[in-house]
Amino acid sequence: MIKTDFLIIGSGIAGLTYAIKVAKANPDKSITIITKADKGESNTKYAQGGIAAVLDEHDSFENHIEDTLRAGDYINDKEVVKRVVEEAPERLNEIISWGTRFDKDKSGEYDLGKEGGHSLNRILHHKDITGFEIERALLEKIAECRNIDVLQHHFAIDLITDHHLGKLVTRRTENSCYGAYTLNSKKNVIERVLSKITMLCSGGAGQVYSHTTNPIIATGDGIAMAHRAKALVSDMEFIQFHPTALYEPGKSPSFLISEAVRGFGAFIRNKRGERFVLKSDERGELASRDIVSKAIDKELKVTGENCVYLDCTHLEHEEFYNHFPNISEYCKKTGIDYRKDWIPIVPAAHYTCGGINVNMNSQTSITNLYACGECSRTGLHGANRLASNSLLEALVFAHHAAEDVSSKINTIAFNDKIPQWNAEGTTDPDELILITHSRKELQTIMSDYVAIVRSNVRLKRALSRLKIHYEETEELYKSTKISPQLCELRNLITIAYLIVTQSMIRSENKGAFYNVDLN
Ligand SMILES: Cc1cc2nc3c(=O)[nH]c(=O)nc-3n(C[C@H](O)[C@H](O)[C@H](O)COP(=O)(O)OP(=O)(O)OC[C@H]3O[C@@H](n4cnc5c(N)ncnc54)[C@H](O)[C@@H]3O)c2cc1C
Repeated sequence: MIKTDFLIIGSGIAGLTYAIKVAKANPDKSITIITKADKGESNTKYAQGGIAAVLDEHDSFENHIEDTLRAGDYINDKEVVKRVVEEAPERLNEIISWGTRFDKDKSGEYDLGKEGGHSLNRILHHKDITGFEIERALLEKIAECRNIDVLQHHFAIDLITDHHLGKLVTRRTENSCYGAYTLNSKKNVIERVLSKITMLCSGGAGQVYSHTTNPIIATGDGIAMAHRAKALVSDMEFIQFHPTALYEPGKSPSFLISEAVRGFGAFIRNKRGERFVLKSDERGELASRDIVSKAIDKELKVTGENCVYLDCTHLEHEEFYNHFPNISEYCKKTGIDYRKDWIPIVPAAHYTCGGINVNMNSQTSITNLYACGECSRTGLHGANRLASNSLLEALVFAHHAAEDVSSKINTIAFNDKIPQWNAEGTTDPDELILITHSRKELQTIMSDYVAIVRSNVRLKRALSRLKIHYEETEELYKSTKISPQLCELRNLITIAYLIVTQSMIRSENKGAFYNVDLN
């Protein structure tokens, strides 16, 4: 058994930032970060474009607020949007002071990029590997904090809550969290991790689709665990598809061609060379992601083609390479020369706009359970996230969560009456085919029936297929030993269920959600 004052599940930007802040404010308390893979593996690591903040004298908070609301189809929480936008410069300065490097121009000012949905240049970036740079700097800072333990290859299976301990609770009645059951996948044992405050920073759920830019860790574990524990989860129907993932059949995750490439001047063309996105929005390639993705989806359906193209041939080649060395090299590796070839692209699942409901301090509906980053639903994104607002959201909410928990930690006691995990030990299953096949089937169901354009009949069909997967997987869960693969499958089914059922309830098309039967 592990006992820790603060338990953090996940080591991306949200978990690491929160940990550093909590460690500073509470030098006498213990902080444990558990993470299911290597500590650097996260969606954060793959973020390319950057972080949005108003730093240019020609820009204003009002502009950034309006762009965020417009992208979110005006169902964002305005108070949250205002707070995040106005605090952005301060939070950015903080991570810069911790060692994060952002690119500057020749005059020594930050080189602010532009992305879809932004009316002005306001994206701080480190070449086209901004997330990698942030993750590096945060992990180095974590290593300096003596009261933080990072446990790699520890998979959180389920939260320990009153509900889990057998008390009858609903999503609206009192329910407290006391830590999590965790699978130590190196030692093959399930451990109890008891904590006074638990923070979920477990990221998004792109792996519920066949085509996604998210790495394989993005299986929505935290959202599924919170849902099982009876926390409130919402807005799951708003899955953002990124319009420009490289088209490489059979490759998962899909390689992302950052929005910043369009901000730099690239055009989207169909096979005939037409810039068809202009028919959907006068901003063309720089309209928000939902609009561009829908335009591409329609174009592919109408023409029957497998992909459309990103044309960078007219751009200044050397400057392009300097801005996007990672993208340029990746294209080269796959045989594409951006100087003369159009880059084949398709939309891919990219960002989970909804998640675990939290308030301004990242508190969930369960006492002593917090959530931050992509697994949370703060109200910032509304129906669709504005590019480069998610890393920022994690920084702002981690800050307020850390302040809130630090003010109350001394009033909370451990619950020492937590039983051991009641199933037999654990090991890798003898054969994985039952799990891997179901995962693929699930991804196909979601990609075919519940992707960019939905309909009532497809949603109904998806739900009936999901029911079969749910029953089979629960059976497997009860009758076999627990493995990370099985837990992930179980979580993905829950995520799919939440997306489908919340899509069925939505009665109006908004942002990233589009049901043809609602027109
Ligand atoms: C290719 C790509 C490009 C992007 N570009 C940008 C961009 O330019 N700007 C921007 O703002 N956003 C961008 N995003 C989105 C952004 O990167 C993410 O929203 C953000 O990094 C999420 O951070 P997080 O800390 O919430 O989660 P993550 O960084 O995903 O971290 C989740 C952590 O939780 C751990 N974990 C998950 N489940 C468990 C479990 N059961 N047990 C233990 N540990 C667990 C994972 O191992 C990981 O450490 C991009 C995303 C992708 C995929």
